[in-house]
Amino acid sequence: MNRIRSNEAKREAARVLRELKSGSISLEGLEAALRRDGYRIMPYNPAKTAVQALAAELGVEDIVSREQSVTFRQGDIRLVLLTDRLDNEEKRLVLAHELGHVRMHHMEGTSADSPVEEYEANEFAHYLLNPSWMLRLECTVRAHARAFLAGLAMVVLLTGGTLLYAYKRQQASYFGEYYVTRTGTKYHLKDCTAVQGRELRRLRVDEAERYAPCSICITQGEE
Ligand SMILES: [Zn+2]
Ligand SMILES: [Zn+2]
Repeated sequence: MNRIRSNEAKREAARVLRELKSGSISLEGLEAALRRDGYRIMPYNPAKTAVQALAAELGVEDIVSREQSVTFRQGDIRLVLLTDRLDNEEKRLVLAHELGHVRMHHMEGTSADSPVEEYEANEFAHYLLNPSWMLRLECTVRAHARAFLAGLAMVVLLTGGTLLYAYKRQQASYFGEYYVTRTGTKYHLKDCTAVQGRELRRLRVDEAERYAPCSICITQGEE
C-alpha cells in the first residue's frame, strides 16, 4: 500500500482554486473543471436502462449505486457517473471528490479503487472546499490583480500629469521676466526707462503673442 499523499492533495486543490482565482468553487465550477480535463458528467439513474446498461458495460454498476458517483477512464472514454437523486450541495461534495481522483492521477495506468486513493480524493475535496484563509486571500488578490494594476496605472498617470503641469508652469516662468503696462503694446524689461514710473505687471506666456518687444530695452543694440 502506498503512502497517502496528503500534501500533494492540498497542493493540487490549491492549484485548482488559483486557476479559478477564487477562494470557493461552485458546482458549475467543478463541472467545468472536470469537462476541461475531458470528462463527461452523466446523471446516473438505475431506472434508466440505457445508463444502467452503460454502467454495467463499463463494470462500474456496483460502485455507482454504492458510492453515489464513479469516475471512469479507459482510452478515450472519460466519464463521471453521478447519481441523480443528489441535491446540488451533495453533488458539489461528490464532484470535488471525483475531481480529486482525476487531479491526483488515480485515473492513469492501472488504478483501481483503493483505500489510499479514496483517502487522497477525500483530502483533495477537503482542501478544495475548505481552503485556508491565506489561500482565500491570495485568490482574492489574484482575482483583483487587473483592478489593482489599473489603479496603479491611474496613480502613474495622475503623478505624470501633475509633474507635466508643474513642468509647464516652470516653463512659463522661464519664459522670461517681461513687463507690460495696462494699455501698452510692447513688453519691457523691468527697469526700462520708457515705462519708468508706470504701473507694471508681469507678461504672461499665453498673451506674449499680442505684444511686441520694446525697441529701447529689449531689441537695443540689435541691427
Ligand atoms: Zn472515490
Ligand atoms: Zn522698454
